[in-house]
Amino acid sequence: MKVTFCGGAYEVGASCILLNIDNKNILLDCGIRQSQSKDILPDFRLIQEYGGVDAIIISHAHMDHTGSLPIISKEYPYAKIYMNIMTKDLLRVLLYDSIKIMSSKEAEIPIYSENDIVYMLDRVHTINYEVDLEILEGIKLTLYNSGHIAGGSCIYLIGKEGSFFYSGDFSLFLQNTVGGAKIPKLRPDAAIFESTYGDKLHSNRQIEEDRLLELARTCIENNGKMLIPAFALGRAQEILLILKKAMNNNKLKKVNVYVDGMIKNINRVYKQNPLYLKSSLGKKILRGIEPFYNENIIAVSNNEDREKIIGSKESCIVVSSSGMLTGGPSQYYAEKIASLENGYIVISGYQDEESPGSKLLSLVDSEEKLLEINNKIIPLKCYIDKIGLSAHGDKNEIKALIDRLTPKNIFLVHGEGTVIESLGREVQQNSIGRVYIPKCGETIEITIKNPRKQLSKNLPFKLMLKEDLNTENISVLWEYVRKYYPDRIFTVEELLFIWYGDYQAEDIKIEKLQLLLLNSVYFENDNRRFFMFKAKNAEEVEAALKPKEFKQNEIMEIIQKEFNDYNYKKISYILESKTVILNFDFPKAVPEAIYQQFSQFSHETDWNIEINTQTNMNALNDKLKMLIGEGNIKRISHYVDKNQVVVESVDLNRDYSKEKNEFKELTGFEFIIKGSEAKKDIEENSLVFSSKNTSFAMEQNQAISIIDEAFKYEEFMPYKKSIKAKAYMELYFISPMVGRRYSEKISLLADETGWSIAISNVVNQNKVLSLAEAFCREEEVELKKNPSFHPATQEVTIKPMLYEEDKFKRIKRAFEHNTGCELKIDAS
Ligand SMILES: [Zn+2]
Ligand SMILES: [Zn+2]
Repeated sequence: MKVTFCGGAYEVGASCILLNIDNKNILLDCGIRQSQSKDILPDFRLIQEYGGVDAIIISHAHMDHTGSLPIISKEYPYAKIYMNIMTKDLLRVLLYDSIKIMSSKEAEIPIYSENDIVYMLDRVHTINYEVDLEILEGIKLTLYNSGHIAGGSCIYLIGKEGSFFYSGDFSLFLQNTVGGAKIPKLRPDAAIFESTYGDKLHSNRQIEEDRLLELARTCIENNGKMLIPAFALGRAQEILLILKKAMNNNKLKKVNVYVDGMIKNINRVYKQNPLYLKSSLGKKILRGIEPFYNENIIAVSNNEDREKIIGSKESCIVVSSSGMLTGGPSQYYAEKIASLENGYIVISGYQDEESPGSKLLSLVDSEEKLLEINNKIIPLKCYIDKIGLSAHGDKNEIKALIDRLTPKNIFLVHGEGTVIESLGREVQQNSIGRVYIPKCGETIEITIKNPRKQLSKNLPFKLMLKEDLNTENISVLWEYVRKYYPDRIFTVEELLFIWYGDYQAEDIKIEKLQLLLLNSVYFENDNRRFFMFKAKNAEEVEAALKPKEFKQNEIMEIIQKEFNDYNYKKISYILESKTVILNFDFPKAVPEAIYQQFSQFSHETDWNIEINTQTNMNALNDKLKMLIGEGNIKRISHYVDKNQVVVESVDLNRDYSKEKNEFKELTGFEFIIKGSEAKKDIEENSLVFSSKNTSFAMEQNQAISIIDEAFKYEEFMPYKKSIKAKAYMELYFISPMVGRRYSEKISLLADETGWSIAISNVVNQNKVLSLAEAFCREEEVELKKNPSFHPATQEVTIKPMLYEEDKFKRIKRAFEHNTGCELKIDAS
C-alpha cells in the first residue's frame, strides 16, 4: 500500500491524496488552495508519474477538497468518481459559482470551463452513507457520516492488501444543521486524520453562540446594522439557525436578518436533501416546514434591495458570503457598514492572511483605522469582532477517533505544521500505531503483513421476493426484519437486499424505497443516523394505523406549525363537522400552494380545512390608501364578484401600473381608476379578464398585434380595441354576447400579454340593425317599418308586411348567429 500526498499535507488547503492499493490508484479528494501566495493546485505531476487514477472519491464539498476536481477528472476521463448526492448537489453550486468568480477577475484565466463541470458531474456515481460498494475489482468502498457539514463523509476502503480510513474533515459534536460523526468500530490498517484544531481544546461552542447573540443584542439596542460575513457552505446555515432559534425563543428581539450571496443557493440544496441533516431539522423539512427563512429571515435578490437595506433606518443583521470578504455581496455590505458609528462586522471563520477579512481584523488594534476594500479606502468607524464556530473536531475529538479505530499506521494531515507536530507527539505517546507526518510531495509505502479482519455486516436472512415493494406489502418486510433482525437499523440498500435477496440497487429503486419508508407507518428514520431506518415496534404501528382523533387544541398546534407562513389572521372551528376555517384579510391573494397542504392536512387529521372567502373590506381600503395615498382617493367602490375595486381618483393621468401590481399581489384584487371612459363601461358590467401575469405588461401596440393575430381566422373579431384609463384593454364586438363566445381565448390573451382585457358591453346598434335588414332582404321579406333595437333586453324587433314562418326561422337563425342578439317578430 502506497500513500502519496499531492496536497493538504502539513497545510490546510488543496487536500489531495493518492492511495495505491491492490495495484489500483485511488484519489481521495481533489482540492485547491484559496491563498493568493501559493500555487492553488495540488501536485498533479505525482499522479501522472504513478500512472494516473482509476477512481476518485470525494469526502465533502468544501473547495479545499473539491476545487480541482474538474481539472483532474478531465485529465483522466475513465476514472470513476464517487461521492454522496448531497455533496454532488453542493458541488454543482460551488463550482458554477467559482467559474463566475474566475471569469469576473480580469487578470485570471479560468482554470476550467462550464463544460468541464457538466462533464465531470455527469460521471459522478452517488453512494449513500454506510452502503458497501465494490468500486474496483476486490476493493470495497463505504462512506460514513463525518459531521462537519451536510454530506460530509469519512471514506473507508477495504482491499486485499488491507483496509484504509480517511477522515476527511470531521466533527464529533452536534451542530445546528448536522449531527456529529457516526463511525462504527472499523478496523483500518492505515488511517489519515485531519488535524485543523489538533492543538486546541474548543472554546465551548455554546459560549461562542451566546457571544454572537450578545453582539446582536448590542447592535439592536444601538439601532445599528450588523454584517456577518460567512462561508456559504456550512457556517452560514449554522448562523442563520442560531439567530432563528434565538428569535423564536425571545432571546433576541425580532429584527430583519437578510441573507445574501451564494448562501441562498446552498440553503436550497440543504432543503432538498433532508436525510443528510440533523434529524430534528430533517424532520421539519419532511413535514414541509421551511428550515431557514421566515417573516424575519429574508433572502436578498438584487442591488436595489441591498441599497434599501443599507439606506434604511432599521436595525438589521446581514449574513452574506463570502466569508473572507474576498468577493460576493459581503464586500458591498462591509464597505457601507465599516463607516457607520453603529455598524458591526462579526467575522465568523478562518481568514487567509491576504484576505480583506484578515486585514479588517488587524485594524482592531491599529492606530490608523483605514480599510481598503472594493478598491476604496474607507475610514473604519464600526465595531469589529470575531466568533469561533468551528466545524472541525478539536484535539480530544481527533484522539478519541484514533482510539476508536486503533489503526497501525496513522497519518496526520490538514493542519498547520506546528499544530500537526504537537498533535503527532501526543498521539504517538498514547497510541500503539506508528504516526506519520507527511509533507506535500511525499510518498509513504507501508506493508501490512496480516490485514486486520473486518467485522462483517452480513445479512444471512432474506425474503427473496420477486414483486416490487409497495405500500401494501411493506408490512411483510416489517414483520420479517422484526423477526430476524430485531433492533437493527438498516440502510435503504440493505432493506432492498433483504427483500429481493440480490443487490439490484438501481438508483431508481433506492429512491422509491426511501420515499416509501419515509411515508410508511412501519418504519422510521433513526434519530442518530437520520439516513438509516428501523422498524417501529408493534404498539407504535398499531397506534399509527388507528385513525387518530385530533382534538381542537392539537389541530390548532398543527395549523400554527404548518400554516404559519401564510399569515392568516384567525382560526375558527365548526366542531360538529370537524372543520377548521382560516381567516385572512385577503383570501383571494392566498398562494395556490396552500391547497396542496390542505389535502395533506385533511388526510393526516381527518379534519376539513377551508378558507373564509370573505375579504376584509376595511383592510382592503386601508391597503389601497396606503399604496396610492389617501388624498388621491375620492371614492372607492367594490365589485367583489369580479375581484375589482374602482377608485375615483383625483389624478386621472398618473400611471398606477406599479401600485396596481402590488395591490393585486397583496390582496388578489385589481383596482381600476374610474376615468370618463372606464366609468361607463365598468358600471355597465363589462366582462373583464384579469391577467394572471401581474408583473409584466407588453408594450400596447405589440399586445394589440398579438390580439389581431389571434382573431385572424375567427368568424367574428373585435371591430375596435381601445385602452381604458391606461389600465386595461377593451375589445368591441358586434355585441358582448358574440364577444363572450371567445372568453377562453381572451382570458389566455390576457395572460399572454399581461394586459387585463374587457369585452365591451356596448352593442353596435347600427351594424345589428343593418344586418337585420339585410337578412330580410335576402329572404325577400318586406318590412312595414325599419327594425328597432331595445337596449334593455338587447333585442331587435321587425315588423313584416306578411308573416311566413319558414322564412322567419331562417332569418332568425342567421341573425342571432351573427349578432348574438335575439330577433323578435311583431306580426300584428
Ligand atoms: Zn471542510
Ligand atoms: Zn478541509
